[in-house]
Amino acid sequence: MARFIFITGGVVSSLGKGLASAALGALLQARGYSVRLRKLDPYLNVDPGTMSPFEHGEVFVTDDGAETDLDLGHYERFTGVPARNTDSVSSGRIYSTVLEKERRGDYLGKTIQVVPHVTNQIKEFLAIGEDEVDFMLCEIGGTVGDIEGLPFFEAIRQFAHDKPRGQCIFMHLTLLPYLAASGELKTKPTQHSVKELQSIGIAPDILVCRSEQPIPEKEREKIALFCNVRKQCVVAAYDLKSIYEAPLAYHEQGLDQAVLDAFGISPAPQPKLDIWHDVYHRVHNPEGKVKVAIVGKYTQLEDAYKSIAEALTHGGMANRVKVKIEWVDAELFDNEDATPYLQGFHAILVPGGFGERGTEGKIKAAQFAREKKIPYLGICLGMQMAVIEAARNVAGMAKAGSEEFDHEAGKKRFEPVVYHLKEWVQGNHKVARKADDDKGGTMRLGAYDATLTDGSKVAEVYGGTAIEERHRHRYEVDIKYRETLEKVGLKFSGMSPDGKLPEIVEWLDHPWFIGVQFHPELKSKPFAPHPLFADFVRAAVETSRLV
Ligand code: GLN
Repeated sequence: MARFIFITGGVVSSLGKGLASAALGALLQARGYSVRLRKLDPYLNVDPGTMSPFEHGEVFVTDDGAETDLDLGHYERFTGVPARNTDSVSSGRIYSTVLEKERRGDYLGKTIQVVPHVTNQIKEFLAIGEDEVDFMLCEIGGTVGDIEGLPFFEAIRQFAHDKPRGQCIFMHLTLLPYLAASGELKTKPTQHSVKELQSIGIAPDILVCRSEQPIPEKEREKIALFCNVRKQCVVAAYDLKSIYEAPLAYHEQGLDQAVLDAFGISPAPQPKLDIWHDVYHRVHNPEGKVKVAIVGKYTQLEDAYKSIAEALTHGGMANRVKVKIEWVDAELFDNEDATPYLQGFHAILVPGGFGERGTEGKIKAAQFAREKKIPYLGICLGMQMAVIEAARNVAGMAKAGSEEFDHEAGKKRFEPVVYHLKEWVQGNHKVARKADDDKGGTMRLGAYDATLTDGSKVAEVYGGTAIEERHRHRYEVDIKYRETLEKVGLKFSGMSPDGKLPEIVEWLDHPWFIGVQFHPELKSKPFAPHPLFADFVRAAVETSRLV
């Protein structure tokens, strides 16, 4: 049966709870334990799939097709454990399950209440797969004191109470603000935050304190005394140059030791940290630098493309170079020449996206990369835009476009080279969708196989012809244009196993131009960079040598 670590946050949001959880997961693995990480989000959306990336950053998609919080991306990148549908839950999902049960009559006429019905539902979620791993790390989103978080805090309190003593611990992240005027780190907000937790029956075992300044011994003792934790359980979390230093930094501060001590595990197995030393070395000793443009729509919020930025960093690690990402807003050149915006980059990436805004700019970015022979990686919408560009500017189909942008019934502006996909095969059954389906959870989601053409660039990059990648899209390049486009040199080099859905396109007469319908960034890890990103960055390095 798993030991549970509940991770909560206080004082302010954005303290890096997800990262701390992921790093702790990696450290426990380094000591030989198996782990699983989970996120419980207090918001009322059923999942983040319908939220704008501006609201909550990127939507991370799991193999089994769940649309989840971006923290699950951190968990996977640090532990390599593929996240599942059952690793992410929100108040919205919990309430909707409780209400479905109520409608079915499952509660046998009882009055339905937050305690025990909602909290029981949360506890049921926590217990899923508890026999499978040594440690289950469960992060509660938001900060203690948020109204909507209360049922989650109550549920973890009860859960720990139900388990035998010593099977659950609580780790709380706080901030120690530095007052320059008095030259002091202040511990009061941490004390208040712990009081808030204690008032709902949770006594933290470990405090992780974010601080810009070294925490003096005296302050550490004070926090320990006032917050009722052991001194060695007050762990410092300083700002880092790269998130990939976090496992080593937390290890140095004694976090994993404190956790094992809190569980009474003694003697603790020694950690094997070689992969993190290697990652650290690659991050800190780049031998060059490349400049990559990400031409997107949500460029004001970098979290909107979190996994892509990380996968590019991993690609840099694979080639021992630093990847300098510049965010370019595609809308800027919807109606203008793209050249001034895109000149000087060693590679161009057009990421996924939804809706028409900025798509003319993205099409121009694809054209610029094709004509100037700059490496181009188009992901999902970025592939669809590359196909439209090819159709319009090379195959002479001036009206080529996507059905996604033609909403007015009976008024078609475009020839739909990209169409609304309503039927496809998953495993050995058919999936069907209607035009007016709900927005939430109805895309082609999760892992699907693809078959690559022998001898193609992508087959070379992957080192094989059978791949499995994660998807999240509603529209699809229409196979009926394959011949026309292949004739002008845009090869359909990856297809769904039934040969119906184009998964990858590549320009033959180009050093590196690949569009993929899936999201390779979701599977990249610092210690195992995704081959497409590793090779894309390699191509960028080559371009940088030419200019
Ligand atoms: N909007 C496009 C579609 O639904 C692309 C989606 C994406 O880029 N993730 O097909």
